[in-house]
Amino acid sequence: MRCHLLNGELYFYQYFSVMKKISLIALAYKRAGLVLAVMILSLGINLWVINQHIHQINIAQGQRALNQYAQNISQQLQFYRSVIKQLARQNEAQNILTMNDVTAAQEWAQRQQHYLPHNIGLALAGLDGQVLGIPVELRLGPSCVADLHKKNLHQSLTEPLVHRDNPRLAHFDLTEPVTDSLGQEMGTLFVSFSLDSLQAALTHSVLPQETLILLDGSGRVIAQAGATSSDTEILRHEIGVPMSAWRLELIHAEDNTVPVYLALGGANLATSALVIVVFVTITIAMVRLFMSELDRVKSLLDEIHAGASITMTESPIKETEKILPVIQAIAQNIQDKQTKLVELSLTDELTQLPNRRRFNMELERACNLSQRGVEVALLLIDIDRFKQVNDSAGHAVGDRVLQLLAACLRHDTRKTDLAARLGGDEFAVVVTNMRKDHLSAWAQRLTADFQAALKGDSLTAANPSCTLSIGAAFAECAATRDPAELFRRADQALYRAKERGRNCLEVDQTKEPGTPN
Ligand code: GH3
Ligand code: MG
Repeated sequence: MRCHLLNGELYFYQYFSVMKKISLIALAYKRAGLVLAVMILSLGINLWVINQHIHQINIAQGQRALNQYAQNISQQLQFYRSVIKQLARQNEAQNILTMNDVTAAQEWAQRQQHYLPHNIGLALAGLDGQVLGIPVELRLGPSCVADLHKKNLHQSLTEPLVHRDNPRLAHFDLTEPVTDSLGQEMGTLFVSFSLDSLQAALTHSVLPQETLILLDGSGRVIAQAGATSSDTEILRHEIGVPMSAWRLELIHAEDNTVPVYLALGGANLATSALVIVVFVTITIAMVRLFMSELDRVKSLLDEIHAGASITMTESPIKETEKILPVIQAIAQNIQDKQTKLVELSLTDELTQLPNRRRFNMELERACNLSQRGVEVALLLIDIDRFKQVNDSAGHAVGDRVLQLLAACLRHDTRKTDLAARLGGDEFAVVVTNMRKDHLSAWAQRLTADFQAALKGDSLTAANPSCTLSIGAAFAECAATRDPAELFRRADQALYRAKERGRNCLEVDQTKEPGTPN
Protein backbone atom coordinates (compact mmCIF):
# COMPACT_ATOMS: atom_id res chain seq x y z
CA MET A 1 0.00 0.00 0.00
CA ARG A 2 1.35 3.42 -0.88
CA CYS A 3 0.20 6.73 0.50
CA HIS A 4 0.31 9.83 -1.71
CA LEU A 5 -0.35 13.42 -0.75
CA LEU A 6 -1.97 15.31 -3.57
CA ASN A 7 -3.71 18.74 -3.36
CA GLY A 8 -3.95 18.35 0.37
CA GLU A 9 -5.90 15.11 0.14
CA LEU A 10 -4.87 11.61 1.03
CA TYR A 11 -5.17 9.03 -1.67
CA PHE A 12 -4.70 5.39 -1.01
CA TYR A 13 -4.50 2.80 -3.67
CA GLN A 14 -3.55 -0.81 -3.91
CA TYR A 15 0.01 -1.23 -5.04
CA PHE A 16 -0.80 -4.65 -6.39
CA SER A 17 -4.16 -4.75 -8.06
CA VAL A 18 -4.51 -8.50 -7.44
CA MET A 19 -3.41 -9.22 -3.91
CA LYS A 20 -4.33 -12.41 -2.08
CA LYS A 21 -6.11 -11.42 1.09
CA ILE A 22 -5.70 -13.32 4.32
CA SER A 23 -7.67 -13.27 7.51
CA LEU A 24 -5.45 -13.25 10.59
CA ILE A 25 -8.00 -15.28 12.57
CA ALA A 26 -8.29 -17.83 9.73
CA LEU A 27 -4.50 -17.95 9.74
CA ALA A 28 -4.55 -18.64 13.50
CA TYR A 29 -6.97 -21.55 12.93
CA LYS A 30 -4.75 -22.90 10.14
CA ARG A 31 -1.71 -22.70 12.39
CA ALA A 32 -3.72 -24.39 15.15
CA GLY A 33 -4.26 -27.32 12.73
CA LEU A 34 -0.51 -27.45 12.22
CA VAL A 35 0.08 -27.43 15.98
CA LEU A 36 -2.46 -30.27 16.33
CA ALA A 37 -0.68 -32.29 13.61
CA VAL A 38 2.69 -31.76 15.33
CA MET A 39 1.24 -32.79 18.68
CA ILE A 40 -0.36 -35.93 17.18
CA LEU A 41 3.00 -36.77 15.60
CA SER A 42 4.76 -36.27 18.92
CA LEU A 43 2.10 -38.45 20.59
CA GLY A 44 2.81 -41.20 18.03
CA ILE A 45 6.54 -40.94 18.73
CA ASN A 46 5.88 -41.01 22.49
CA LEU A 47 3.75 -44.14 22.20
CA TRP A 48 6.32 -45.85 19.97
CA VAL A 49 9.16 -45.08 22.41
CA ILE A 50 7.08 -46.28 25.36
CA ASN A 51 6.09 -49.41 23.44
CA GLN A 52 9.77 -50.19 22.78
CA HIS A 53 10.60 -49.55 26.41
CA ILE A 54 7.84 -51.82 27.72
CA HIS A 55 8.87 -54.49 25.21
CA GLN A 56 12.46 -54.40 26.48
CA ILE A 57 11.23 -54.55 30.08
CA ASN A 58 9.06 -57.60 29.21
CA ILE A 59 12.01 -59.36 27.57
CA ALA A 60 14.29 -58.63 30.55
CA GLN A 61 11.62 -59.75 33.06
CA GLY A 62 10.99 -62.97 31.07
CA GLN A 63 14.68 -63.77 30.97
CA ARG A 64 15.08 -63.14 34.69
CA ALA A 65 12.09 -65.37 35.47
CA LEU A 66 13.31 -68.13 33.15
CA ASN A 67 16.72 -68.03 34.78
CA GLN A 68 15.12 -68.53 38.14
CA TYR A 69 12.94 -71.44 36.88
CA ALA A 70 16.00 -73.16 35.37
CA GLN A 71 17.83 -72.77 38.69
CA ASN A 72 14.87 -74.40 40.45
CA ILE A 73 14.95 -77.43 38.09
CA SER A 74 18.73 -77.64 38.45
CA GLN A 75 18.44 -77.55 42.25
CA GLN A 76 15.87 -80.31 42.09
CA LEU A 77 18.25 -82.45 40.02
CA GLN A 78 21.05 -81.61 42.46
CA PHE A 79 18.85 -82.80 45.27
CA TYR A 80 18.17 -86.14 43.56
CA ARG A 81 21.87 -86.52 42.75
CA SER A 82 22.90 -85.84 46.34
CA VAL A 83 20.36 -88.41 47.56
CA ILE A 84 21.64 -91.20 45.29
CA LYS A 85 25.22 -90.24 46.13
CA GLN A 86 24.38 -90.98 49.80
CA LEU A 87 22.89 -94.33 48.74
CA ALA A 88 25.95 -95.19 46.63
CA ARG A 89 28.15 -94.64 49.69
CA GLN A 90 26.29 -97.19 51.81
CA ASN A 91 28.60 -100.07 52.90
CA GLU A 92 25.79 -102.50 52.18
CA ALA A 93 25.75 -101.53 48.52
CA GLN A 94 29.51 -101.91 48.32
CA ASN A 95 29.34 -105.35 50.03
CA ILE A 96 26.62 -106.53 47.68
CA LEU A 97 28.70 -105.55 44.67
CA THR A 98 31.80 -107.20 46.22
CA MET A 99 29.84 -110.38 46.79
CA ASN A 100 27.97 -110.01 43.51
CA ASP A 101 24.93 -111.15 45.52
CA VAL A 102 21.97 -110.85 43.15
CA THR A 103 19.29 -111.75 45.76
CA ALA A 104 20.69 -109.27 48.31
CA ALA A 105 20.95 -106.66 45.60
CA GLN A 106 17.31 -107.14 44.62
CA GLU A 107 16.18 -106.98 48.22
CA TRP A 108 18.34 -103.90 49.00
CA ALA A 109 17.08 -102.09 45.94
CA GLN A 110 13.40 -102.82 46.69
CA ARG A 111 13.92 -101.58 50.27
CA GLN A 112 15.53 -98.30 49.15
CA GLN A 113 12.71 -97.64 46.70
CA HIS A 114 10.33 -97.04 49.64
CA TYR A 115 12.45 -94.17 51.00
CA LEU A 116 13.00 -92.23 47.81
CA PRO A 117 10.43 -89.61 46.75
CA HIS A 118 9.04 -89.87 43.18
CA ASN A 119 11.08 -93.00 42.62
CA ILE A 120 10.24 -95.33 39.74
CA GLY A 121 13.11 -97.83 39.55
CA LEU A 122 16.28 -98.53 41.51
CA ALA A 123 19.01 -101.11 40.93
CA LEU A 124 22.69 -101.87 41.31
CA ALA A 125 24.63 -102.85 38.23
CA GLY A 126 27.99 -104.52 38.00
CA LEU A 127 30.98 -103.18 36.16
CA ASP A 128 29.76 -105.04 33.09
CA GLY A 129 26.53 -103.03 33.16
CA GLN A 130 24.43 -106.08 34.09
CA VAL A 131 21.59 -105.34 36.55
CA LEU A 132 21.88 -107.23 39.82
CA GLY A 133 18.33 -108.56 40.21
CA ILE A 134 15.30 -108.90 37.99
CA PRO A 135 14.91 -105.60 36.04
CA VAL A 136 11.12 -105.83 35.72
CA GLU A 137 10.68 -106.34 39.45
CA LEU A 138 13.05 -103.46 40.13
CA ARG A 139 10.90 -101.42 37.65
CA LEU A 140 13.63 -100.99 35.06
CA GLY A 141 12.26 -100.92 31.53
CA PRO A 142 14.13 -102.21 28.49
CA SER A 143 15.31 -98.69 27.60
CA CYS A 144 16.81 -98.30 31.07
CA VAL A 145 18.60 -101.62 30.79
CA ALA A 146 19.86 -100.79 27.31
CA ASP A 147 21.08 -97.33 28.36
CA LEU A 148 22.85 -98.83 31.41
CA HIS A 149 24.58 -101.16 29.07
CA LYS A 150 25.55 -98.31 26.71
CA LYS A 151 26.88 -96.33 29.65
CA ASN A 152 28.97 -99.31 30.66
CA LEU A 153 30.41 -99.31 27.15
CA HIS A 154 31.22 -95.61 27.70
CA GLN A 155 28.98 -94.48 24.86
CA SER A 156 28.05 -90.76 25.04
CA LEU A 157 24.56 -90.19 26.45
CA THR A 158 22.84 -86.89 27.05
CA GLU A 159 22.04 -87.16 30.71
CA PRO A 160 19.75 -87.20 32.47
CA LEU A 161 18.09 -89.67 30.07
CA VAL A 162 14.31 -89.55 29.75
CA HIS A 163 12.22 -92.68 29.06
CA ARG A 164 8.58 -92.67 28.06
CA ASP A 165 8.09 -96.33 27.02
CA ASN A 166 5.24 -96.47 29.47
CA PRO A 167 3.55 -93.02 29.67
CA ARG A 168 2.22 -93.82 33.14
CA LEU A 169 5.76 -94.52 34.32
CA ALA A 170 7.55 -91.79 32.30
CA HIS A 171 10.78 -90.99 34.13
CA PHE A 172 14.35 -89.76 33.97
CA ASP A 173 17.41 -91.75 34.97
CA LEU A 174 20.30 -90.85 37.23
CA THR A 175 23.35 -93.04 37.81
CA GLU A 176 26.06 -92.85 40.44
CA PRO A 177 29.25 -94.95 40.52
CA VAL A 178 29.69 -97.13 43.60
CA THR A 179 33.32 -97.14 44.74
CA ASP A 180 35.28 -98.99 47.42
CA SER A 181 37.23 -97.34 50.23
CA LEU A 182 40.17 -96.80 47.83
CA GLY A 183 37.94 -95.04 45.32
CA GLN A 184 37.98 -97.99 42.95
CA GLU A 185 34.75 -98.28 40.92
CA MET A 186 32.81 -101.40 41.78
CA GLY A 187 29.59 -100.85 39.85
CA THR A 188 26.76 -98.38 39.26
CA LEU A 189 23.75 -97.31 41.26
CA PHE A 190 20.83 -96.68 38.90
CA VAL A 191 17.78 -94.65 40.03
CA SER A 192 14.89 -93.37 37.96
CA PHE A 193 12.51 -90.62 39.08
CA SER A 194 9.01 -89.91 37.86
CA LEU A 195 8.60 -86.99 35.47
CA ASP A 196 5.65 -85.99 37.68
CA SER A 197 8.14 -84.44 40.12
CA LEU A 198 9.42 -82.12 37.35
CA GLN A 199 5.88 -81.49 36.15
CA ALA A 200 4.93 -80.50 39.71
CA ALA A 201 7.94 -78.16 39.92
CA LEU A 202 6.96 -76.47 36.66
CA THR A 203 3.29 -76.23 37.63
CA HIS A 204 4.26 -74.75 40.98
CA SER A 205 6.52 -72.14 39.40
CA VAL A 206 4.54 -71.05 36.37
CA LEU A 207 2.58 -67.77 36.56
CA PRO A 208 -0.66 -66.89 34.76
CA GLN A 209 -0.18 -66.16 31.03
CA GLU A 210 3.06 -68.17 31.09
CA THR A 211 3.99 -71.56 29.57
CA LEU A 212 7.03 -73.43 30.81
CA ILE A 213 8.39 -76.30 28.70
CA LEU A 214 11.23 -78.53 29.83
CA LEU A 215 13.06 -80.17 26.90
CA ASP A 216 15.58 -83.00 26.93
CA GLY A 217 18.89 -82.98 25.08
CA SER A 218 17.24 -84.01 21.82
CA GLY A 219 14.51 -81.36 22.05
CA ARG A 220 11.65 -83.59 23.17
CA VAL A 221 9.24 -82.27 25.77
CA ILE A 222 9.87 -83.61 29.30
CA ALA A 223 7.22 -81.57 31.07
CA GLN A 224 5.03 -78.60 30.32
CA ALA A 225 2.92 -76.28 32.49
CA GLY A 226 0.72 -73.24 32.08
CA ALA A 227 -0.97 -71.69 29.07
CA THR A 228 -0.59 -68.43 27.16
CA SER A 229 -3.56 -66.92 25.40
CA SER A 230 -2.98 -66.60 21.69
CA ASP A 231 -4.67 -63.18 21.28
CA THR A 232 -1.84 -61.28 22.94
CA GLU A 233 1.74 -60.61 21.85
CA ILE A 234 3.90 -63.67 22.66
CA LEU A 235 7.53 -63.60 23.82
CA ARG A 236 9.74 -66.75 23.82
CA HIS A 237 12.92 -67.31 25.84
CA GLU A 238 15.07 -70.45 26.13
CA ILE A 239 17.88 -71.32 28.50
CA GLY A 240 19.91 -74.41 29.37
CA VAL A 241 19.21 -76.04 32.75
CA PRO A 242 22.54 -75.86 34.65
CA MET A 243 24.35 -79.18 35.24
CA SER A 244 22.24 -81.01 32.64
CA ALA A 245 21.69 -81.33 28.90
CA TRP A 246 18.11 -80.16 29.36
CA ARG A 247 16.69 -76.83 28.19
CA LEU A 248 13.87 -74.77 29.58
CA GLU A 249 11.61 -72.66 27.43
CA LEU A 250 9.36 -69.84 28.66
CA ILE A 251 6.50 -68.51 26.59
CA HIS A 252 4.65 -65.55 28.02
CA ALA A 253 2.32 -62.80 26.97
CA GLU A 254 3.46 -59.21 26.82
CA ASP A 255 2.00 -56.93 29.50
CA ASN A 256 -1.22 -55.38 28.33
CA THR A 257 -0.12 -51.91 27.28
CA VAL A 258 -3.48 -50.74 25.94
CA PRO A 259 -4.51 -48.98 29.19
CA VAL A 260 -1.11 -47.24 29.28
CA TYR A 261 -1.54 -46.12 25.67
CA LEU A 262 -5.10 -44.97 26.33
CA ALA A 263 -4.07 -42.99 29.42
CA LEU A 264 -1.05 -41.48 27.70
CA GLY A 265 -2.92 -40.77 24.46
CA GLY A 266 -5.82 -39.21 26.37
CA ALA A 267 -3.49 -37.03 28.43
CA ASN A 268 -1.59 -35.97 25.30
CA LEU A 269 -4.75 -35.16 23.35
CA ALA A 270 -6.18 -33.21 26.29
CA THR A 271 -2.92 -31.24 26.53
CA SER A 272 -2.93 -30.64 22.76
CA ALA A 273 -6.53 -29.41 22.88
CA LEU A 274 -5.68 -27.09 25.77
CA VAL A 275 -2.59 -25.74 23.99
CA ILE A 276 -4.62 -25.11 20.82
CA VAL A 277 -7.44 -23.38 22.71
CA VAL A 278 -4.90 -21.16 24.51
CA PHE A 279 -3.05 -20.51 21.22
CA VAL A 280 -6.22 -19.57 19.31
CA THR A 281 -7.56 -17.46 22.21
CA ILE A 282 -4.30 -15.53 22.50
CA THR A 283 -4.12 -15.05 18.72
CA ILE A 284 -7.72 -13.81 18.53
CA ALA A 285 -7.08 -11.42 21.43
CA MET A 286 -3.95 -10.14 19.69
CA VAL A 287 -5.74 -9.73 16.36
CA ARG A 288 -8.58 -7.82 18.09
CA LEU A 289 -6.09 -5.54 19.84
CA PHE A 290 -4.28 -5.02 16.56
CA MET A 291 -7.58 -4.33 14.74
CA SER A 292 -8.61 -1.76 17.37
CA GLU A 293 -5.25 -0.06 16.84
CA LEU A 294 -5.80 -0.10 13.07
CA ASP A 295 -9.28 1.40 13.60
CA ARG A 296 -7.69 4.15 15.67
CA VAL A 297 -5.14 4.81 12.91
CA LYS A 298 -7.95 4.80 10.34
CA SER A 299 -10.02 7.33 12.28
CA LEU A 300 -6.93 9.53 12.65
CA LEU A 301 -6.40 9.37 8.88
CA ASP A 302 -10.11 10.17 8.38
CA GLU A 303 -9.70 13.23 10.61
CA ILE A 304 -6.65 14.32 8.61
CA HIS A 305 -8.59 13.76 5.40
CA ALA A 306 -11.44 15.90 6.73
CA GLY A 307 -8.93 18.62 7.60
CA ALA A 308 -9.68 18.41 11.32
CA SER A 309 -6.89 18.84 13.80
CA ILE A 310 -5.99 15.46 15.23
CA THR A 311 -5.46 14.56 18.86
CA MET A 312 -2.90 11.84 19.48
CA THR A 313 -3.26 9.45 22.35
CA GLU A 314 -0.55 7.03 23.36
CA SER A 315 -0.62 3.63 21.64
CA PRO A 316 -1.20 0.68 23.96
CA ILE A 317 0.82 -1.55 21.60
CA LYS A 318 4.58 -1.21 21.68
CA GLU A 319 5.00 -2.54 18.13
CA THR A 320 2.68 0.07 16.56
CA GLU A 321 3.67 3.08 18.64
CA LYS A 322 6.08 4.19 15.91
CA ILE A 323 3.18 4.64 13.45
CA LEU A 324 1.46 7.43 15.40
CA PRO A 325 4.37 9.94 15.28
CA VAL A 326 4.55 9.33 11.51
CA ILE A 327 0.83 10.08 11.17
CA GLN A 328 1.29 13.15 13.33
CA ALA A 329 4.17 14.31 11.12
CA ILE A 330 2.05 13.73 7.99
CA ALA A 331 -0.85 15.68 9.53
CA GLN A 332 1.45 18.54 10.55
CA ASN A 333 2.97 18.55 7.06
CA ILE A 334 -0.47 18.76 5.45
CA GLN A 335 -1.55 21.49 7.83
CA ASP A 336 1.60 23.53 7.18
CA LYS A 337 1.15 23.20 3.43
CA GLN A 338 -2.50 24.15 3.64
CA THR A 339 -1.66 27.22 5.73
CA LYS A 340 1.02 28.12 3.23
CA LEU A 341 -1.37 27.65 0.31
CA VAL A 342 -4.01 29.82 1.96
CA GLU A 343 -1.38 32.44 2.67
CA LEU A 344 -0.15 32.31 -0.92
CA SER A 345 -3.68 32.55 -2.28
CA LEU A 346 -4.28 35.71 -0.21
CA THR A 347 -0.90 37.43 -0.65
CA ASP A 348 0.51 39.49 -3.47
CA GLU A 349 3.75 37.92 -4.52
CA LEU A 350 5.69 41.06 -5.42
CA THR A 351 4.87 43.24 -2.43
CA GLN A 352 3.93 40.56 0.12
CA LEU A 353 0.84 42.67 0.91
CA PRO A 354 -2.61 41.07 1.09
CA ASN A 355 -4.02 40.68 -2.43
CA ARG A 356 -7.41 41.59 -3.86
CA ARG A 357 -9.11 38.39 -2.60
CA ARG A 358 -8.04 39.08 0.95
CA PHE A 359 -8.97 42.75 0.52
CA ASN A 360 -12.49 41.80 -0.53
CA MET A 361 -12.89 39.62 2.54
CA GLU A 362 -11.55 42.31 4.88
CA LEU A 363 -13.65 45.03 3.26
CA GLU A 364 -16.76 43.01 3.86
CA ARG A 365 -15.76 42.42 7.47
CA ALA A 366 -15.04 46.18 7.91
CA CYS A 367 -18.44 47.07 6.44
CA ASN A 368 -20.07 44.71 8.92
CA LEU A 369 -18.15 46.42 11.74
CA SER A 370 -19.32 49.82 10.52
CA GLN A 371 -22.89 48.66 11.06
CA ARG A 372 -21.98 48.24 14.74
CA GLY A 373 -20.72 51.82 15.00
CA VAL A 374 -17.06 51.41 14.05
CA GLU A 375 -15.87 54.17 11.73
CA VAL A 376 -14.57 52.64 8.52
CA ALA A 377 -12.88 54.37 5.56
CA LEU A 378 -11.64 52.95 2.30
CA LEU A 379 -8.68 54.62 0.58
CA LEU A 380 -7.73 53.71 -3.01
CA ILE A 381 -4.17 54.72 -3.92
CA ASP A 382 -2.78 54.78 -7.46
CA ILE A 383 0.75 55.76 -8.53
CA ASP A 384 0.72 58.62 -10.93
CA ARG A 385 2.11 57.96 -14.38
CA PHE A 386 3.64 54.75 -13.32
CA LYS A 387 3.73 53.47 -16.85
CA GLN A 388 6.39 56.05 -17.59
CA VAL A 389 8.63 54.65 -14.84
CA ASN A 390 8.39 51.26 -16.45
CA ASP A 391 8.98 52.66 -19.84
CA SER A 392 11.90 54.93 -18.91
CA ALA A 393 13.66 53.03 -16.10
CA GLY A 394 12.57 49.49 -16.82
CA HIS A 395 10.24 46.97 -15.28
CA ALA A 396 12.61 46.07 -12.45
CA VAL A 397 12.67 49.67 -11.23
CA GLY A 398 8.86 49.73 -11.56
CA ASP A 399 8.73 46.63 -9.34
CA ARG A 400 10.96 48.28 -6.76
CA VAL A 401 8.70 51.36 -6.75
CA LEU A 402 5.71 49.10 -6.05
CA GLN A 403 7.62 47.36 -3.24
CA LEU A 404 8.65 50.69 -1.68
CA LEU A 405 5.07 51.94 -1.70
CA ALA A 406 3.98 48.67 -0.07
CA ALA A 407 6.61 49.17 2.64
CA CYS A 408 5.33 52.72 3.27
CA LEU A 409 1.75 51.52 3.50
CA ARG A 410 2.81 48.84 5.99
CA HIS A 411 4.63 51.49 7.99
CA ASP A 412 1.90 54.13 7.94
CA THR A 413 -1.05 51.92 8.85
CA ARG A 414 -2.07 50.45 12.21
CA LYS A 415 -2.35 46.76 12.94
CA THR A 416 -6.09 47.08 12.85
CA ASP A 417 -5.97 48.59 9.32
CA LEU A 418 -5.51 46.58 6.14
CA ALA A 419 -3.22 47.70 3.31
CA ALA A 420 -3.54 45.59 0.14
CA ARG A 421 -2.37 45.61 -3.47
CA LEU A 422 -5.38 45.36 -5.74
CA GLY A 423 -3.34 44.92 -8.90
CA GLY A 424 -0.98 46.93 -11.16
CA ASP A 425 -0.07 50.14 -9.39
CA GLU A 426 -3.35 50.31 -7.47
CA PHE A 427 -3.37 49.84 -3.66
CA ALA A 428 -6.11 50.05 -1.04
CA VAL A 429 -6.24 50.71 2.67
CA VAL A 430 -9.19 49.79 4.86
CA VAL A 431 -8.94 52.03 7.90
CA THR A 432 -10.95 51.86 11.10
CA ASN A 433 -11.60 54.69 13.53
CA MET A 434 -9.84 57.42 11.52
CA ARG A 435 -11.24 60.90 11.82
CA LYS A 436 -12.05 62.58 8.49
CA ASP A 437 -9.98 65.66 9.37
CA HIS A 438 -6.90 63.49 9.88
CA LEU A 439 -7.16 61.95 6.46
CA SER A 440 -5.41 64.73 4.57
CA ALA A 441 -2.45 64.75 6.95
CA TRP A 442 -2.20 60.98 6.66
CA ALA A 443 -2.16 61.22 2.84
CA GLN A 444 0.55 63.84 2.95
CA ARG A 445 2.63 61.74 5.32
CA LEU A 446 2.25 58.69 3.11
CA THR A 447 3.28 60.68 0.00
CA ALA A 448 6.25 62.18 1.87
CA ASP A 449 7.35 58.80 3.17
CA PHE A 450 7.00 57.36 -0.34
CA GLN A 451 9.10 60.13 -1.82
CA ALA A 452 11.75 59.64 0.85
CA ALA A 453 11.77 55.92 0.23
CA LEU A 454 12.21 56.42 -3.49
CA LYS A 455 15.09 58.80 -2.87
CA GLY A 456 16.67 56.49 -0.37
CA ASP A 457 16.69 53.48 -2.64
CA SER A 458 19.62 53.14 -5.05
CA LEU A 459 17.41 51.63 -7.75
CA THR A 460 14.73 54.36 -7.68
CA ALA A 461 16.78 57.36 -6.59
CA ALA A 462 17.00 58.55 -10.20
CA ASN A 463 13.18 58.61 -10.54
CA PRO A 464 11.96 60.60 -7.55
CA SER A 465 9.01 62.02 -9.40
CA CYS A 466 6.44 59.32 -8.50
CA THR A 467 3.43 60.81 -6.74
CA LEU A 468 0.22 59.29 -5.46
CA SER A 469 -3.43 59.93 -6.17
CA ILE A 470 -5.80 58.91 -3.39
CA GLY A 471 -9.56 58.46 -3.40
CA ALA A 472 -11.36 58.02 -0.09
CA ALA A 473 -14.90 57.06 0.96
CA PHE A 474 -16.42 56.56 4.44
CA ALA A 475 -18.91 53.84 5.36
CA GLU A 476 -21.19 56.15 7.21
CA CYS A 477 -24.60 55.46 5.75
CA ALA A 478 -26.62 52.44 4.76
CA ALA A 479 -25.53 52.73 1.11
CA THR A 480 -21.82 53.02 1.81
CA ARG A 481 -21.92 50.13 4.28
CA ASP A 482 -22.31 47.96 1.24
CA PRO A 483 -18.72 46.95 0.18
CA ALA A 484 -19.41 47.32 -3.56
CA GLU A 485 -20.93 50.81 -3.11
CA LEU A 486 -18.13 51.90 -0.78
CA PHE A 487 -15.56 50.72 -3.33
CA ARG A 488 -17.36 52.39 -6.18
CA ARG A 489 -17.38 55.73 -4.32
CA ALA A 490 -13.70 55.49 -3.38
CA ASP A 491 -12.90 54.65 -6.99
CA GLN A 492 -14.85 57.67 -8.21
CA ALA A 493 -12.97 59.85 -5.74
CA LEU A 494 -9.69 58.46 -7.07
CA TYR A 495 -10.82 59.16 -10.58
CA ARG A 496 -11.56 62.75 -9.58
CA ALA A 497 -8.09 63.05 -8.02
CA LYS A 498 -6.57 61.96 -11.32
CA GLU A 499 -8.84 64.42 -13.08
CA ARG A 500 -7.73 67.22 -10.78
CA GLY A 501 -4.16 66.70 -11.93
CA ARG A 502 -2.99 63.83 -9.74
CA ASN A 503 -0.80 63.90 -6.55
CA CYS A 504 -3.82 64.76 -4.40
CA LEU A 505 -6.51 63.36 -2.13
CA GLU A 506 -10.23 63.31 -3.06
CA VAL A 507 -12.87 62.35 -0.54
CA ASP A 508 -16.28 61.08 -1.54
CA GLN A 509 -18.79 63.81 -0.93
CA THR A 510 -21.89 62.12 -2.28
CA LYS A 511 -24.94 63.47 -0.51
CA GLU A 512 -27.27 60.84 0.77
CA PRO A 513 -30.85 61.26 -0.25
CA GLY A 514 -32.69 63.15 2.52
CA THR A 515 -29.59 64.78 4.05
CA PRO A 516 -29.48 68.63 4.23
CA ASN A 517 -27.13 70.50 1.82
P1 GH3 B 1 -2.09 57.16 -14.27
O1 GH3 B 1 -1.40 58.33 -13.64
O2 GH3 B 1 -3.26 57.57 -15.05
O3 GH3 B 1 -2.35 56.14 -13.32
O4 GH3 B 1 -1.03 56.66 -15.28
P2 GH3 B 1 -0.29 55.31 -15.26
O5 GH3 B 1 0.80 55.39 -16.16
O6 GH3 B 1 0.01 54.97 -13.87
O7 GH3 B 1 -1.36 54.44 -15.85
P3 GH3 B 1 -1.92 53.04 -15.29
O8 GH3 B 1 -2.20 53.20 -13.83
O9 GH3 B 1 -3.11 52.69 -16.14
O10 GH3 B 1 -0.73 52.10 -15.61
C1 GH3 B 1 -0.37 51.08 -14.77
C2 GH3 B 1 0.86 50.50 -15.31
O11 GH3 B 1 1.45 49.70 -14.33
C3 GH3 B 1 0.63 49.61 -16.50
C4 GH3 B 1 1.61 48.48 -16.31
O12 GH3 B 1 2.61 48.46 -17.26
C5 GH3 B 1 2.21 48.75 -15.00
N1 GH3 B 1 2.23 47.60 -14.18
C6 GH3 B 1 1.17 46.83 -13.78
N2 GH3 B 1 1.58 45.83 -12.97
C7 GH3 B 1 2.94 45.98 -12.86
C8 GH3 B 1 3.94 45.26 -12.15
O13 GH3 B 1 3.70 44.34 -11.46
N3 GH3 B 1 5.23 45.73 -12.26
C9 GH3 B 1 5.58 46.79 -13.01
N4 GH3 B 1 6.82 47.19 -13.06
N5 GH3 B 1 4.64 47.47 -13.69
C10 GH3 B 1 3.34 47.08 -13.62
MG1 MG C 1 -1.20 54.71 -12.17
